[in-house]
Amino acid sequence: MNQKRYLVFGAHPDDCDLLFGGTAIKLARAGHLVKFVSVCNGDCGHYAMEREALAARRYAETQASAKIAGLAEYQVLNLHDCEIENTLENRGKIVRIIRQFQPDVVLSHRDCDYHADHRVTARLVLFAAYLIKVPLYCGDTPIPEKNPVFAYCYDRFRDPRPIRADAAVEIDSVLETKLRMADCHASQFYEWLPWDKGFKDFDASGMTWEEKRQWLYAQWGCRFETAASLGRETLCTIYGEKGKEIKCAEIFEFSEYGEPISPEGFRDLFPR
Ligand SMILES: [Zn+2]
Repeated sequence: MNQKRYLVFGAHPDDCDLLFGGTAIKLARAGHLVKFVSVCNGDCGHYAMEREALAARRYAETQASAKIAGLAEYQVLNLHDCEIENTLENRGKIVRIIRQFQPDVVLSHRDCDYHADHRVTARLVLFAAYLIKVPLYCGDTPIPEKNPVFAYCYDRFRDPRPIRADAAVEIDSVLETKLRMADCHASQFYEWLPWDKGFKDFDASGMTWEEKRQWLYAQWGCRFETAASLGRETLCTIYGEKGKEIKCAEIFEFSEYGEPISPEGFRDLFPR
């Protein structure tokens, strides 16, 4: 088997799970290596906790989620939430992480996403796409033999244009496990995000898994369904007639800044 390596950069410790969780589960089950990186420690993602305690809690949540997905690693960088900057220091960090992991594919946000941290993370990864090939830059970490393909994960923003589904992965078959990953991030999916969305009295403490599962799908399922709608044509190319029936998907757009690849080759980087 030709084992491949996938490196996903999310701004916060739950972004990779939402954007790539289902695909990661399938890849890991097929024996591929998937590493998630959260570029900040998530220490602003709550309304009541102390920042240091929150960062520690969120780190533990990433490790629990990594176990469920079967990730090779879930790394969390020690940058503060809402404060990720496009500095030379951070650029070097991203370049070194990519070179050390030697991925076949690098994925991240687009830079038209809603959160400042998502946009800066997108920029940092974008800048790295060329710099990883410059041997005298970050010369302590050798350039990999193979230059990776770069890609963007789904977002729901339409300005300047919606994301293109160059590749699409059905996740109906792994949805339960993907929701279990979200369940690991209790500080977010049951506390901060409901609070932020106006459900100030939401309390998951007495809920059964079935009730939690329904809550998670009610809040987040529409994104997986929208991704499937955007990627319908691609899903039908990949899955044939069955592509029409797929309800939830993760979709990915090829980035021209990394290694070039044919449209078929790009689709083949992702699991069926
Ligand atoms: Zn985020």
